[in-house]
Amino acid sequence: MRRIADNISEILERMHAFEQRYQRPHGAVTLLAVSKKQPVEAIRAAYAAGLRDFGENYLQEAEAKIAALADLDITWHLIGPLQSNKTRPVARHFHWVHSVDRLKVARRLSEQRDDSMPPLNVCIQVNLANEESKSGVELDAAATLCQEVAALPRLRLRGLMAIPAAETDFARQRAQFAQLATEFRRLQQQLPQLDTLSMGMSNDYEAAIAEGATLVRIGTAVFGART
Ligand SMILES: *Cc1c(COP(=O)(O)O)cnc(C)c1O
Repeated sequence: MRRIADNISEILERMHAFEQRYQRPHGAVTLLAVSKKQPVEAIRAAYAAGLRDFGENYLQEAEAKIAALADLDITWHLIGPLQSNKTRPVARHFHWVHSVDRLKVARRLSEQRDDSMPPLNVCIQVNLANEESKSGVELDAAATLCQEVAALPRLRLRGLMAIPAAETDFARQRAQFAQLATEFRRLQQQLPQLDTLSMGMSNDYEAAIAEGATLVRIGTAVFGART
């Protein structure tokens, strides 16, 4: 668990170095620790090291962890695909959903979000290369979906999320993130409340920060390999 604290301080140092290198304001990028398939003790260690934002992919696993860690002041993000028949527990237990890609799912989340809770923060997931294996709306359809989701009363539309095709070449990583960033800036003209560009993982977060990410989702580099 010592190693987790060391990993986190190393990542935060690198993030700050990248902010400086790419003329981003200091602290412009949030570290979201992706804790899927990691035990609650690992999350406690990351929390003790100062992190407050955690991302989970699988609903059942997440619900158990959220209950086990109810004593901590964690902001929980759902980053995995979401089926429309599973929205109720998500609306109840999460603070953010990054993977909204259909109006039906968004409507249900809005209807099911309790009035006593703050609005649920959502990002629209974009499938940049229209990969069969990935969720997300096509880039061309993102603007329409954003307008519709922005009108839902119990949701707060925050921005866009993407998982680009795996790519080791830095220039190509940047080119993919640039596509999402361009669309994000265009949307901000119509929806000035948008403030979140969720992109970048363990292997490509430098490229994401270079292109304007405000939140990077990092699992392996924080916790080590998943079991
Ligand atoms: C697993 C996952 C991550 C983290 O991936 P790492 O390569 O372990 O950093 C980020 N985003 C999403 C949507 C994921 O499913």
